[in-house]
Amino acid sequence: MSIKENLLAIKETIPDTVTLVAVSKTKPMSFIQEAYDEGQRVFGENRVQEMTEKWENLPKDIEWHMIGHLQRNKVKYMAEYVSLIHGVDSPRLLAEINKQAEKHNRTISCLLQVHIAEEDTKFGFNEEELLELVANEEFKAYKNVKIVGLMGMATFTDNADQIRKEFSGLKSLYTKFSNNYTDFTTLSMGMSGDYKIAIEEGSNMVRIGSSIFGSRN
Ligand SMILES: *Cc1c(COP(=O)(O)O)cnc(C)c1O
Repeated sequence: MSIKENLLAIKETIPDTVTLVAVSKTKPMSFIQEAYDEGQRVFGENRVQEMTEKWENLPKDIEWHMIGHLQRNKVKYMAEYVSLIHGVDSPRLLAEINKQAEKHNRTISCLLQVHIAEEDTKFGFNEEELLELVANEEFKAYKNVKIVGLMGMATFTDNADQIRKEFSGLKSLYTKFSNNYTDFTTLSMGMSGDYKIAIEEGSNMVRIGSSIFGSRN
């Protein structure tokens, strides 16, 4: 199947209320252009340098999402254009995003990454740390970052019950926070292998790569 066919097939399985982030990491710009020509405007990357190169060379109405683990010293290279950072997993990273966004007179939207998987290789806050962060006075003073929701990755497993349980836990946390933070609009969960479960459990943003662009090495 072509990228166009894959994209259309995926979109048929996603309600209009769910935003599709087409994850184009490692893939050439021609692939992105092909999806763009079908109307796709939101793309996800996990390396700042690669994303910046693509941003420089592709149409300017693309929304670039940083979905990967992010090092603080890389924030400055994308502060000018990034539209959503999914993987904010430390207060120090948030401080750096605020600082770099300020230099460009922007407010950068961010999602706080929550650790929901069993593996300890996946980054993110736990509930207690989240509560601590949002209650922090320094955090509240940040003018150039806006926390618009949460992001999580489920355990890499065939056990659908476990995946469902992890997503449902994140959704509960999201609901709890959205009652107090009116900026909360976005719950990013679900990838090629588990996005259908994620949507059933309340995701409104899915990050899909290989099912659109083919498998990666
Ligand atoms: C690579 C990646 C995806 C997309 O994974 P696929 O299985 O190819 O759909 C989604 N989210 C994150 C954080 C990723 O790094």
